[in-house]
Formats: sequence, structure tokens, C-alpha cells
Amino acid sequence: MRHTNGKFNIPYKTAFVVNPTSGAGHAGKTWPQIAERLDQSGLKYKVYFTRCSGDGRFMAEKAVSAGAELVVAVGGDGTLVEVVNGIDLDRTVFAVIPLGTGNGFRRSCGLPGQWQSVLQGFSCWQPRRIDLGVINGTCFLNVAGIGFDAAVAEMASEKYKMIKGYTAYVLAFFDGLTRLDHFYTRVTCDRWGIEQPNTLLVVVANGPYYGGGLTIAPHASLDDGSLDLIIVRRPTGTETTVLAFQAMAGMHLENSAVISTKIDSFRVEADHQVPVHIDGEIIGKLPAEIMIKPGALQILAPPKNQSNCSLPNFLKKPLDKRNKCGYNNRASIDASVAERQTR
Ligand SMILES: [Mg+2]
Repeated sequence: MRHTNGKFNIPYKTAFVVNPTSGAGHAGKTWPQIAERLDQSGLKYKVYFTRCSGDGRFMAEKAVSAGAELVVAVGGDGTLVEVVNGIDLDRTVFAVIPLGTGNGFRRSCGLPGQWQSVLQGFSCWQPRRIDLGVINGTCFLNVAGIGFDAAVAEMASEKYKMIKGYTAYVLAFFDGLTRLDHFYTRVTCDRWGIEQPNTLLVVVANGPYYGGGLTIAPHASLDDGSLDLIIVRRPTGTETTVLAFQAMAGMHLENSAVISTKIDSFRVEADHQVPVHIDGEIIGKLPAEIMIKPGALQILAPPKNQSNCSLPNFLKKPLDKRNKCGYNNRASIDASVAERQTR
């Protein structure tokens, strides 16, 4: 570690892109403390503040044009994804100071929860490569969703905004299960196609953790060169309760309403205009062309084996023992396709 006397070093020409509204203003209130620590260490850096939605991308482009070698996104998951879409992936290192509400990517990437620890980490971590997901040309870091989860995120931040953190997402989740519409969807890749007439949700996961705390894709990994595709059909009344509790425990892949697989490129269509979000930000409607860019992003983060976040032991059981639906098993999708074709 290269920091001494509480000071630290960041061995790059560094720019910070700060969204002061992230985390209901938490990022804006915290930034002066971060800047003070940087100044105390005698570091030279540039800072760009976002002013509106979408600004993170333009600020990141400005930072790279001005010669930044390391661009640090300061804010929530929505800000991170904007910044990632503005940097030069071939020559820019990316880093994160997570100060949003959900911070799902922080958990997926194994970053410490305290910004002070993240700053200290910049002195000693080496850049490592992680995958990026791409939907209709826009990169995403962590989790993209089609249908239900976009509505849950919206309800958590509006209807349940007086309730803090994870509880708001849980309430929105139950609320959403009882009222949301379903849609007809078709998912196709070069090897197979599947049609689901009563789809509740399609999740495309690069990392396992969703903002708010749900382990939406327990076996997703940021560096396995694949996306985890999870399709959830609308559950029946009894199934709804079981599925909700399974989801809260990260066990939902075992539910018969859920099919899942690992995949690298595919297309999703629906019978009507269904919204698509990436890392919590609505980016448009279906259809969507989705692919993975393996190892496309260099990120300054803890080594994978020093991750601050890990799955609980009960989710580490071998896949073939824990999941009769065959998660990560080609047979599950093939069987599902065959079942639908015989109807
Ligand atoms: Mg992956």
C-alpha cells in the first residue's frame, strides 16, 4: 500500500464525475469531505459535476478529452452507467465511489461500503477487467430489466419513498406481484428461441446483486464472459407468495415460474411496448438487442478474491444439486422450448 501518514496516492491523471443528487443528495453532501481528503494528500485532480439526467456521459467524455487516465464516478448506479458510456474503454480506467441509494453494483463488484475505504483502495488496487452488457448499443454494468423490476424500482422510489432502503423494495416487490400486467415475449439467440405468453419480467444480469439488496442472479459474475438471463412468468396466486419469499432469499431460480441460463447475445421482443431499464434507469422500450462485451472495462477495484461481498453459504451449493430447473444448464431452456412447442 502506497499511502503514508493517512495520505494516499492515486497513480493516474484522475477526474471525478460527481452527481450531487445521487442518494437523495448524499453524494453532494459527501463530496466536500472527499475533496478535502484528496487535497490533504496533495493530489491533483479534476472534478465535473452533473447537472441533469444523462450529463454523466458528457462529463466523462470531457474528462477523457482533457487527458484523464482514471475517471471516477461518484454517485449511484445510474450515474455509474452514464459515466461508463462516456469513457474510452481502450485507454481509460474506471472507478467508483458508491454514494447512491441502492448501490447494487458496489456489492456485485465487492467494493467497500465506506467512501474512505474506497479512496484508500485506489492507492493499492490494480485495475482488473470485467464484462459489460450492451442493450441496443448502450453499455450497462450490473443488471438490466424488462417489465416488472422497472416498475418495482419506480414504486420503491415513489409510493414507498418514506420507507428507507431494502424494506421499500420488499414492499414494492409484493405490491407489484399482485397488480402488474404481463406481456408476451419472444427471446431468440443463434441456437434457440423461446416464447413466453405471460411474462412478468426478463432480467439480464452481469452482476448478481440488484439495487436495494435483492440477489437477483445468484450465479452471475462480472468476469465470466456471459450474461445471466432470467425469465419469470406471471405466477399464480399461491406461487406469488412462494416466489416472493424465494426472491428475498435469493432462491427464486428454483421456482417453476422461473427459467434461466447463461448467454452471450440474444434479442428480446414483446407484443406491446415494454420499458427497459439498465442499472435502474429507463432507457427505452423493446425490442432489444443484447450482448456481452467480455473484459471490456478496466476497473480499479479490489481483487475478486478479496471481495467485500460474497454469497451466503446456502447459495453456494453446486448448481446441479440445488436447482431442478437447471440453472446454467442448457437442458432447461431446451426442455422449456420443447414443452412450449408441444402445446
Ligand atoms: Mg457475467
